[in-house]
Amino acid sequence: MNQQFSRRQFLGAAGIGTAGTALGALGFGDAEVALAQAVRPYRLASTTETRNTCTYCSVACGILIFSKGDVHKGDKADILHIEGDADHPTNRGTLCPKGSGLLGFVKSPNRLVEPRIRKPGSDKFEPVSWEVALDRVARLLKDDRDKNFLATNKDGVTVNRWTSTAFLAASATSNETATVTYKVVRSMGALVFDNQARV
Ligand code: SF4
Repeated sequence: MNQQFSRRQFLGAAGIGTAGTALGALGFGDAEVALAQAVRPYRLASTTETRNTCTYCSVACGILIFSKGDVHKGDKADILHIEGDADHPTNRGTLCPKGSGLLGFVKSPNRLVEPRIRKPGSDKFEPVSWEVALDRVARLLKDDRDKNFLATNKDGVTVNRWTSTAFLAASATSNETATVTYKVVRSMGALVFDNQARV
């Protein structure tokens, strides 16, 4: 029978063999090695596997996220493990140190998960709702654009530019989000726009 293996299945099988050899070298007996080899393929069997892209940089390595909890049944997904996607053409299963630390990033107690504002004169940031944050951002953008937008330059040539506000976008988005971000920013006439991925 001509059996087809995906790259991931091949690496998984190779990993089991390597793990067995390594465990033997560490002094484990045959029974322990056999148990480890039997258990390893099933260590994540009861989890949900989700493909995604590492959000740290524009290399955009493929990752596999393993979580407990079925979101389709209303459970909150709890991510247990993240590893490189062996089938992804960009990284073929490898991750750099930043990508290897993704689980720590997801679980970090220091992770910012809500908008915050530092009011004039205050020395601390306070959490606000998305509604408040977006309204305030829109208000400040509109006021600044109304005040500083240049329709023509000093020679009367149409330039339609706005240079008093800068935009910094994140690469942790899909291509579609990046395209829409670009169109929104440029359609307002903004020239000062950057992104670590240079969209
Ligand atoms: S794993 Fe490293 S190289 Fe790959 S996208 Fe993430 S940060 Fe970039």
